[in-house]
Order: sequence, then structure tokens, then C-alpha cells
Amino acid sequence: MRAVIFDAIGAPPRVRDVPEPVAPDGGVVVRVGSTGLCRSDWHAWAGHDDITLPHVPGHELAGVVVALGPGVENWHVGDRVTVPFVCGCGRCAWCAQGDAQVCPDQEQPGFTHWGSFAEQVALHAADTNLVAVPDTVSFDAAAALGCRFATAYRGLAGRAAVREGEWVAVVGAGGVGLSAVMIARALGARVIAVDRNREALAVAESLGADRVVLSDGATRVPDVVHDLTGGGAHVAVDAVGSERTCADAVLSLRRRGRHVQIGLLPPVDGHPRVPMDRVIGWELDLLGSHGMSAADYPGMLALIEQGTLRPQDLVGRVIGLEEAAALLPRFDRATVAGMTMVHPDT
Ligand SMILES: [Zn+2]
Ligand SMILES: [Zn+2]
Repeated sequence: MRAVIFDAIGAPPRVRDVPEPVAPDGGVVVRVGSTGLCRSDWHAWAGHDDITLPHVPGHELAGVVVALGPGVENWHVGDRVTVPFVCGCGRCAWCAQGDAQVCPDQEQPGFTHWGSFAEQVALHAADTNLVAVPDTVSFDAAAALGCRFATAYRGLAGRAAVREGEWVAVVGAGGVGLSAVMIARALGARVIAVDRNREALAVAESLGADRVVLSDGATRVPDVVHDLTGGGAHVAVDAVGSERTCADAVLSLRRRGRHVQIGLLPPVDGHPRVPMDRVIGWELDLLGSHGMSAADYPGMLALIEQGTLRPQDLVGRVIGLEEAAALLPRFDRATVAGMTMVHPDT
């Protein structure tokens, strides 16, 4: 099968023929219909994750089951499925209580094993992790769920428990930020989107952001947010993952506000400085969000089937494997509006 693969950290990814995956015990092989290109893929390529080389990235996927490993009970060849980027082991106490997103023995396609920038991908613990994709939901929309959309949903609905009428400041209007804008609006919040890219802010407005703030370096984002909200946002999201965006989000909060950290902050340059004086003095809550387990998908899927949430509207472009290989090394700097989806068969 064809796959995007790289042989060394930071080496140019190439499209090559590689052996097809074999379904593991309790797992399946999925023929990939659509897979998203995410900043986390860039982190893996740049060496910020513990991966084995050569490596095939890709962790946001939807497709059709083509092979079953021994012991799979609930799934069949031909099923349309997606999967959270964190696949729980299915055996531990965390998985049993529906918190597979923090499973200590988790697998992650595109990180702990070869991922979905390929015609096929192997997935572990199918009965714990697979999610049925309704016929009315496209593979592009379903693939968008696996990482960024579901993480934003859980961050806002589950972790921060956003309430109607609250102000939510979303710092970063990439895939996860735009998801957060859409979800916060659906929860009845008023939304401020912050980004350095005007095009991304225009998309945020089209998705319902009440205010947008261009972060051009000279702008003091927290001051602008405090002015717009009369004292600060109730909830702030760092949807990028940098010391600057994290601080902008934390300092944009009002007293007793809740910060949700979704953008990855790997300690490659040491751990980031966080304005903890403000966290203490204003009694802010700092909340991490690490995806969402398959057990929590039904509520989100119901809102998608109703049309209240429309992940398909976040898709900015569809590309093939060759373009994905070319785009991956510059994805941290790419200023693209909306999500980039990859169709491995094109
Ligand atoms: Zn992702
Ligand atoms: Zn587990």
C-alpha cells in the first residue's frame, strides 16, 4: 500500500509502498477514507514524541473496516468507523470508567504505531475505541472529530463546563480553535477568536465568533479581551500551544475564570512559564484536555446528526498523500484557514 513515511526525525517525508498492516489481537485494519493533517503530526515529525523510525504519521481518521483481529466482538468488515486519537487498552480501570483518553497503556495511531497517512491503518482494542459513523456523516466530517474537534468539545463541554451567555476567548483559530468557536457558540456562549492570520479570523467569524482579535505582535491580547468582555472571559482556550498563547489565554480571563490547555506544549525548550501569580490571585482553574474517549462520542454525534455541530464546515481543503508529504514539514508555520484533509486514494 502507499503511505507517507519518514526515515529520520526532520527528514523529508516521502510517499512509498509499504507492507499492509495486520489486524492485532482485539484490533482491526481500516481502509482510510479521510485523514486530517494536524499540528501534532508536525510535532512527531520534529522529534517531540517518542516514535520508532521509519514512521508513518496520521491520527485523525475515518474509513471502512477491512480486517478483524482475533477477539473482536462488536465490529464487522464493511463497518464505517472513526476512532479517538487516544485508543485505550480496554482493560484498565480508566478505560472501564469511560476515561480511555488518559489510559496509562494507550495506543495512538501515528505515534505509538504507524498511522493513517496511508491507504490502511491498524487500530487496537476495537471494542473499546471504535465509533460507528452514521451514513449521514461524511468521512471528512468524521475524521475531523478524532482529535481536534473532539478535544475541543470535551475541553469546553466536559472540562470547562461552558454555560450559556458566558464569554469564551479562543486563542488560535486553526483546526482546534475553529472547532472551539463552533462548539462554544452551540453551547450558547459568546466567543472571541484570536489569531495572527486574518483569513483564519474571517473563517472564525463565518462560524459565529462574536468578536475577532488580530494578534499582530503589537496587540496586547488580554487588554483587548478585557475591554470587549467587561472584565475578562469566563473561559479561555489556548488552541495553539506556545508560552505566548498560553499566557494570552490565562491573562484574558476574569477572576475565577477557567483556562483550557489544548495546544501541545512539549518541554523541548524546558517547560513554559505560566503566569501563576494571576492563577493564584484571581483563583483561576487550569484544565488540561487530552482528547475524548469513544464512550463520550454519542452526545457529540447526536448534535452532528441534528446539524447543531457541523465539523464538515471546518474542512478547508482536501489533498492527496503527495501533497501531505510536502506540507507536513512546514505545517507549524503554514497559515492555512480551516482543516486540511488527506484522501489516501487520490
Ligand atoms: Zn490531531
Ligand atoms: Zn486502559
